[in-house]
Amino acid sequence: MNELEQWRKDPLVIKLMAIEEVFWLNPHIDSFKSAVRMLSLHEDDVKDAEKRLERFAPYIAKVFPETNQAHGMIESPLVQIPSMKQSLEQKYLQPITGNLLLKCDSHLPISGSIKARGGIYEVLKHAEQLALQHGLLTVQDDYSILDSETCRDFFANYSIAVGSTGNLGLSIGIISAKLGFNVSVHMSADAKQWKKDLLRSKNVNVIEYEDDYSQAVEEGRREAEQDPTCYFVDDEQSQDLFLGYAVAAFRLKKQLAEQKITVDESHPLFVYLPCGVGGAPGGITFGLKLLFEDHVHCFFAEPTHSPSMLLGLLTGLHERISVQEIGLDNRTEADGLAVGRPSRLVSRMMKPLLSGSFTIDDDKLFTLLKELADAEGLFLEPSALAGMLGPIKLVQEGNHYLKANNLAEKMNNATHIIWGTGGSMVPEEEMMAYYRRGGTIK
Ligand SMILES: *Cc1c(COP(=O)(O)O)cnc(C)c1O
Repeated sequence: MNELEQWRKDPLVIKLMAIEEVFWLNPHIDSFKSAVRMLSLHEDDVKDAEKRLERFAPYIAKVFPETNQAHGMIESPLVQIPSMKQSLEQKYLQPITGNLLLKCDSHLPISGSIKARGGIYEVLKHAEQLALQHGLLTVQDDYSILDSETCRDFFANYSIAVGSTGNLGLSIGIISAKLGFNVSVHMSADAKQWKKDLLRSKNVNVIEYEDDYSQAVEEGRREAEQDPTCYFVDDEQSQDLFLGYAVAAFRLKKQLAEQKITVDESHPLFVYLPCGVGGAPGGITFGLKLLFEDHVHCFFAEPTHSPSMLLGLLTGLHERISVQEIGLDNRTEADGLAVGRPSRLVSRMMKPLLSGSFTIDDDKLFTLLKELADAEGLFLEPSALAGMLGPIKLVQEGNHYLKANNLAEKMNNATHIIWGTGGSMVPEEEMMAYYRRGGTIK
C-alpha cells in the first residue's frame, strides 16, 4: 500500500475527504528557541525588509496619495470588535474570554487585501535592485525620484509575471504598472471578473486560464523562463513575499503597545489567519514568533474544499500532496484560498511554529460576513472571515492544547486577533450580493 492510500484511512483525512469541518493541533510544534535554530530565515531578514519598505515610503506616499497620512507606510488598523464578540457568543453559546480584535488588512491601501504587503514588497525589492545596478538610485536617495519619466522608461525594458487567483495579481499588477514595468497576470478560472477589469484598466496584461491556481502559476513561470528580462513572482516558494508579510508582525507589535495590550507569559496572544498557499499567514506567523516567541499561538483557517496546508502538514508530505489527491475539488468562494497544494517553503517553516489549523464551510463565510457587517459595520470579503470562528473552536475543540500549554487559567487575559485579509476593493454591488447571500443561509 502506498503512502497516500494509508493516509486515506487516517481519521482526520477521512473527515477532510467528507468535506467536514476539522480542527487540528500540530504535534510537531516546538518551543520557539529550539525551532528558530532550524529555520532558513531569521530576524535580520525581516528587519532588512522593514528597512527597504521605509526607503520606499516617500515614493509610495507620492504615487499613492491614500498613503499620505501614514507617510507612505502601507498599514491597516487593529480594532476591537465588541459587538461581534457578543453576537458570536450568543450564536455559539460559548463565551470568548479576553479581548477580540480584528486586524483590518481588508482596508490596506493600494490593493485592499493582505497581498498589499508581500506582493508590493517583492516588486519594490526587484525594482530597487535594478535601479541600483543601473545607477538610477542609491540607498541614500529619496526614493520618490523613481516617480519620473526616466525611471518609468527604464523599467519599461523589464517585465514582471505572476500567477494568481486574483488578489496577488491585483497587488503585483498595480505596483508594477505604477513603476513602469510591463506586467502580466496569469489568472485562474476562479478569478473574479471585476479584478480582471480593474487590472486591464491599469494597463496590466491579463491572461486567463480554464484551470486552477497551480496551472496559472505554471504558465507564469514558463513565460518568465523564456524571457531573461522577465521576473517571475513565485507565490509557491518566494522568500521575498514571505518576508514582506512578516513585516506586519513588527507593525502589529507597535499597535498592540499603543493600545496598551500586553503579550507575555501570563497574557497569551492568539492569532487566526486565513491560509491559501501559505505565504501571507506563514510570513506573519514567522514574524510574530520572532517577537513573542511562545506567548503567541497561531492558527490557520482554510475552506473545507481547499485544506491544502493542513493536508501537507498533517501528512508531512508538504507540497508533495494536493487536495485533489484525496478527492476534493478545490472549489470555494473564498478568493485566494482556492489553493490545492501548499507552498514548499512555508509548509516547512510552519512545521515547528504553527499551533494548529482548522477548516470552515463556505456557507459560514457568508453568514459571518453578514454578522460582522451588522455588528460592526465592517465589510470583508468571504475569505477574510475564515479565521473568525477561531476563538470559539479553540475553546470547544482545542482544550487539549490549552491544558498542555498551561493556558486554561490565563484565558481571561488573552487577546484574540482575527486577521481580516481582504474586502475593501470589492465593488459595492458584489459585496451586497455576498451580504444578501449571508442572510439566506441558515
Ligand atoms: C491570498 C489571500 C489569503 C491567503 O494568503 P496566502 O499567501 O495565499 O496563504 C487570505 N485572504 C485573502 C483575502 C487573500 O487574498
